[in-house]
Amino acid sequence: MENHYRLQKILENVIGNIKKQDFLVYFRKISILATPGNKVVFGVLSGFMKDNLEAKFYATLLSAAKKELGEEIETIEFKVDPEIENPSNSEVIDCAGFYKSASKKSVTSKAKKQSLETITRKNSNNRYTLDNFIVGGDNQLAYSACEAVAKNPGKSYNPLYIYGDVGLGKTHLLQAAGNKIGETFKGHNVVYTTADKFITEYVSAVKKRSIERLREKYRGVDVLIIDDVQFLQKKEQTQNELYNIFNILYDSNKQIIISGDRAPRELTELEPRLRSRFEWGITVDIGRPDFETRLAIIQEKARAKEFLIPHDVAEFIAANVTENIRELEWVLNQLIMEYELTGQTPVLNKVAAQLKKLSFTTDILWDTKNQSIKKASIKSYEDILDRVSEHFGIEKEGILGPNRRKEFMVPRQVSMYLLKTKMNYTYERIGNIFSGRNHASVLYSCNKLQKLIKKDAMLLHEVNVIREEIWL
Ligand code: ADP
Ligand code: MG
Repeated sequence: MENHYRLQKILENVIGNIKKQDFLVYFRKISILATPGNKVVFGVLSGFMKDNLEAKFYATLLSAAKKELGEEIETIEFKVDPEIENPSNSEVIDCAGFYKSASKKSVTSKAKKQSLETITRKNSNNRYTLDNFIVGGDNQLAYSACEAVAKNPGKSYNPLYIYGDVGLGKTHLLQAAGNKIGETFKGHNVVYTTADKFITEYVSAVKKRSIERLREKYRGVDVLIIDDVQFLQKKEQTQNELYNIFNILYDSNKQIIISGDRAPRELTELEPRLRSRFEWGITVDIGRPDFETRLAIIQEKARAKEFLIPHDVAEFIAANVTENIRELEWVLNQLIMEYELTGQTPVLNKVAAQLKKLSFTTDILWDTKNQSIKKASIKSYEDILDRVSEHFGIEKEGILGPNRRKEFMVPRQVSMYLLKTKMNYTYERIGNIFSGRNHASVLYSCNKLQKLIKKDAMLLHEVNVIREEIWL
């Protein structure tokens, strides 16, 4: 319990220093696992939470720990706590509830409140920053590389080359790194451009015979960021110009950050000497974020726009819009627009119907009967039996028992067939569930149903309806 008290103090301090939504999104559930020596080990929900807390709130938490537990605290650490979801674990603090009671308790002075509000407003514009980039497994490396480069431009990785499919955050990271460098190193001349823009600039300079001016401009930069270099392919002259600029900047330790839609070696229409220079530093790819990351991104984007999105709607979008974060944002923006027009908070079934129309939903079904989303996959044979018995309107016991009347036989065969073909149960296991029938009898039933549905379209339809209902 002592740790619990310590944790409370630390979190109270943290709440005063970060945004509410950040606290709710990133902290969720937390515990103190141990305090060996001068260290505090925090227990967190998942590897995902660990990565984000480390990346974003290490300093905040460390300073809170120092303030509350004493300056002798030197480091903190995060570990996944397997007991964190255990309801009887009294060491865990659920941050949502904690925030509510803490904010009631604290009589924040007006001045402090105001300064907090200004901070929130200041951060709520849509600028790309490292802080509002959500870190998940597949973009962790790209994020860390940008962070390192922003701390030590020209010194850690040069050039930094980030590649990946569209809408996965390349531009966000590049601009965030540029912004960060601009803030930290006041005198630095940071130039962000896209390959497209660079081509236009070059072509127009050639036309206007002002190529020297262009060269001067680029030779004077401290950080050169070029987005989407795949568009330089086949533009030999522009490539040549960039090659020279690259060499000059590189030789004087100026940072270069590049993005492309594929690895440098796959930019086959790019001059080999430029291609190989892109590989001189570090190349990192950025992948599709997982469900948890997508959910956190939606929440972050909604927060930035001060839009309260219901949790189930956020989850639904995150589960269905999986390929591209720009699309994810687009869907969210549609909801916000609609909210602004109608004043109605989005509700799950409407959002589901809309997404379905836009054919985003691929693997999640809308259950018209229960007016809810079927997102959990089947967990046990009980789920199948429940649905089959409900569908045919007979008791489960009838399906499981020995009765050989047709009204029981068919549902029994359907259940066995689904367990075998869709859930990979063994014949033995199925036999055990069905009053200890033997292997051969289960095998016979499964084959029998297979034959029946080949001939009987109605029955096939029924099996498919059940499958759809239980999402098999
Ligand atoms: P790309 O340049 O790779 O095509 P963008 O950087 O334009 O992708 O990303 C598309 C949108 O998705 C941007 O608005 C960006 O802010 C957002 N985005 C992508 N990944 C993340 C992330 N991990 N955290 C927050 N926003 C993200
Ligand atoms: Mg981009």
